[in-house]
Amino acid sequence: MCGIVGYVGFRSVSELLLEGLHRLEYRGYDSAGIAVMADDGIVLRKRAGRVGELAALLDEQPVRGSIGIGHTRWATHGETTDENSHPHIGGNGEVAIVHNGVIENYISLRNQLQEMGYVFQSQTDTEVVAHLIAHHLSEQQKLNCDEPCMRTCLRAINLSLDQLKGTFGLCVLFRDCPETVIAARAGSPLVIGIGKDEYFLASDASPLIGYTKEVVYLADNEVVVLQPSGIQITHRTSGSVRPSIQTLDQVSSDIDLGDYPHYMLKEIFEQPQTVENALRGRLNEEEGTAVIGGLNLTPQQLRKVDRIVLTACGTSWHAALVGEYLLEEFARIPTEVEYASELRYRNPPMTEGTLVFSITQSGETADTLAAMRECKRKGHPTLSICNVVGSTIARESDGGIFLHAGPEIGVASTKAFTSQVTVLTLLALYLGRMRHLSYPAGKRIISQLRDMPAKIEEALQCHDRVKEVANKYADFDNFLYLGRLCNFPVALEGALKLKEISYIHAEGYPAAEMKHGPIALVDEQTPSVFVVPRSGIQPKVMSNMEEVKARKGPVIAIACQGDNAVAEIADDVIYVPDIEEYLQPLVCAIPLQLLSYHIALLRGCNVDRPRNLAKSVTVE
Ligand code: GLU
Repeated sequence: MCGIVGYVGFRSVSELLLEGLHRLEYRGYDSAGIAVMADDGIVLRKRAGRVGELAALLDEQPVRGSIGIGHTRWATHGETTDENSHPHIGGNGEVAIVHNGVIENYISLRNQLQEMGYVFQSQTDTEVVAHLIAHHLSEQQKLNCDEPCMRTCLRAINLSLDQLKGTFGLCVLFRDCPETVIAARAGSPLVIGIGKDEYFLASDASPLIGYTKEVVYLADNEVVVLQPSGIQITHRTSGSVRPSIQTLDQVSSDIDLGDYPHYMLKEIFEQPQTVENALRGRLNEEEGTAVIGGLNLTPQQLRKVDRIVLTACGTSWHAALVGEYLLEEFARIPTEVEYASELRYRNPPMTEGTLVFSITQSGETADTLAAMRECKRKGHPTLSICNVVGSTIARESDGGIFLHAGPEIGVASTKAFTSQVTVLTLLALYLGRMRHLSYPAGKRIISQLRDMPAKIEEALQCHDRVKEVANKYADFDNFLYLGRLCNFPVALEGALKLKEISYIHAEGYPAAEMKHGPIALVDEQTPSVFVVPRSGIQPKVMSNMEEVKARKGPVIAIACQGDNAVAEIADDVIYVPDIEEYLQPLVCAIPLQLLSYHIALLRGCNVDRPRNLAKSVTVE
């Protein structure tokens, strides 16, 4: 949530910041703004709305300079107005700051600062930080008038940070120290890009692509001073830090739309490739098992695991539910799925042999990070399943498995879901083969997994049919999504996709649970989407379809190719390839992603930037 970008160097900074904000816009799009160090001090340009609005403002009122900071906002405190947009000015223009996160004690700090005479222009928690830094800066300038300006600024920052409660990624520009940007983090991600006589700063690596491959991930409680001549990182308690430089493996085509109209559609169609990437090098045909490096636990330690907790939020939570079925089925290890936002404050009993997996696309989800830290504090091995290499959760977990799905830009997650399910299938196979799963069973699963990219490709051929179905149902305002066993989470995910991007009320339920309440919603105006591929449970789900039909509810079915029995009951059928039950979520998710995409388009919604949402939820 919220994108921060900063730059010190020789390039024309307005254009560079604007390009960075375009790339970060998926993180928040309530407003956008930049602050540039110009010849006569700090100049701001900011505007409520999309980054495009800021671009138009900059066309009318350009600003020149080669040092600056920028922000795209996901509002937490204060409406989405020009005044509440970042950057915020502290004092009388001595500093400008951008902030990601929440300052929990902002009210008491604001009262103190107002008593001292500081005047507030916005309703944000962030402006408090701006004035606080300005206040400490003026105090320090009086006390230490002979020292280099950078040292004074750094001291002012540290004194201010001491007073803050909450989470922040901050980036600050100083009028009286024009060569310097200082950034700090506690809870919100920041990455530094290393160039030659230039340095970049951003919430994630996307603005750096094409400029540098060398990055340093800032850790919590670290502060970095960026100047064209170099960077200096200090930890707030333990002092100077030697930067650990890592290499980015992304290329600019990863974040280009190509010929697609939206990132969501591009990412849906990338799934044969992304699932292949998740499988690459992880199938051991000979031994009928998965190859999972990176867990950092010996087979002996893994054998002692007697319980698994999967913690996640949103779509990742749905992938975790599929994982629960697979881990219990293949490995016979009792598995629980916990909302990270609950787990972080709950205190569930956990045995010594409990293994915790945090599942997150971005690796920055605030609640998932907090839940992971809580489990770690209690002494449990904490592993991660995430997409972004270098993210906080990837770095802080004891080990983990990467998705290798490439950047996911569409706010509604699609390819990350199928990659997470793929990785969880591999994990279940791996742990299963250490326990009860036989060699022939393992070999069979391996060969079916090998076919998955082709099966997903086949599933994508439903695209035209999905468009027809979307046309027929786009005007309905309530939907039910129903499935059973490992297709129950697929129903939840289908409903979430529809809610997220088309603002239609949709509920996902286990199909049989419907008669305990949701069936009361069924009428001619409430379509039910049944995920009903061939399986042992399919006859039961078909009875549930009949129950809906008997109450005049329209039925859309996701069924296996050639399944005429389903077609006889349903009003509309979308076919997917016929595959083994436990792998069905990987193909059944595809038509549901496409259905929500086309319904959203027909309703005129912005599929890549749905209202109120943002990618990478880095606030609590
Ligand atoms: N709390 C700040 C605000 O509402 C920052 C939000 C963000 O992370 O974008 O302006």
